Amino acid sequence: MKALTFREKHHIAYDTVADPQLLEASDAIVRVWITAVCGSDLHVYHARETGLDSGTIMGHEFVGEIAAIGKAVRRLRIGDRVVSPFTTNCGVCYYCQIGLSCRCTAGQLYGWRQNGHGLHGAQAEWVRVPLADTTLVKFDTHISPEAALLIGDVRATGWHCAQQADLSPKGIYAVIGCGPVGLMATLAAREQGAQQVYALDTVTERLTLAQQYGAIPLSVANDEWRDIAFAATQGRGFDAILEAVGSSSAVRLAYEMVRPGGTISSVGVHTSAQFAFSPIEAYDKNITFKIGRAPARRYMEQLLERTLQSSYDITQIITHRLPLSDGATAYQLFDQKQDGCIKAILRV
Ligand code: NAD
Ligand code: ZN
Repeated sequence: MKALTFREKHHIAYDTVADPQLLEASDAIVRVWITAVCGSDLHVYHARETGLDSGTIMGHEFVGEIAAIGKAVRRLRIGDRVVSPFTTNCGVCYYCQIGLSCRCTAGQLYGWRQNGHGLHGAQAEWVRVPLADTTLVKFDTHISPEAALLIGDVRATGWHCAQQADLSPKGIYAVIGCGPVGLMATLAAREQGAQQVYALDTVTERLTLAQQYGAIPLSVANDEWRDIAFAATQGRGFDAILEAVGSSSAVRLAYEMVRPGGTISSVGVHTSAQFAFSPIEAYDKNITFKIGRAPARRYMEQLLERTLQSSYDITQIITHRLPLSDGATAYQLFDQKQDGCIKAILRV
């Protein structure tokens, strides 16, 4: 089959690779319809995240139809329309039971193979899904494949980011980073009742979309925005910061802009060995810091349901649709934010 593989830093190849096979009785094979490039793929692309085997199939965002199932699969049939969270999960272990599906003891991340072990990704014609019954979510024809794809990652991650920010209607909040995840966090914060949400980025079209999702856009391209932010919060800083960048400088900014006693909800993927603030700085501000991979699977059914009722169109973030064979171009467009790119989808 055809697939996008990681070769080395800044080199994503459109390759011919072996078709995936059913390896376990609980596996399914999904025929991929559409897949996407995520900010998380960029950490690998830039070799900020290292250790990935050369030749690993990239990607963890996809929808498609069931093409084959193992003997133990009960809930799924050939032809079902399915979306996956970006990690697999068993549904029965301690972590799945408490809603931390991203830390399932049997779970794996798509597109991560190291020293010959791990799971290939979904930027391909077919993908193997372990623990298929408890990982995959069926969606019906009322929901577009593109909306479903976003729910498997960026929509769920944004929702989680807002959930762990302890929002209240009277609070004043800021989202740092208006990429797909930050835009979805912005929308989620508004849906979860926050009235005043500032959205911080440097990219005009991303700020414009944040405004359409109910935020007050604030360009951080020059320093005036800090005065506006402090004036808006009577000099205190924000009640919570939703960090959706994944860099030390963004967390440092979150630390500087959160008020004493406030919360930093960080969903950016961090690859640094050190915190961006010290224990004494955290102590002196009484901050709560929540960080980590989002348990996307936990939120997917409710977010699919919400798509049918919502007046917002989450698929507005998708600016580019390319064939899988143009995968390398999609990485470049998304990474460089060229041609107004916010989210790039690959058609298989
Ligand atoms: P993206 O790269 O498109 O978005 C990042 C945005 O942040 C860009 O618009 C950029 O201009 C902006 N930015 C960078 N530095 C900034 C700064 N100092 N201040 C303000 N804005 C700044 O990527 P994305 O797809 O939206 O992903 C965002 C992050 O979320 C990535 O780190 C990704 O790995 C992570 N992520 C985490 C999870 C999870 O489970 N925790 C899931 C999905 C994605
Ligand atoms: Zn992703």
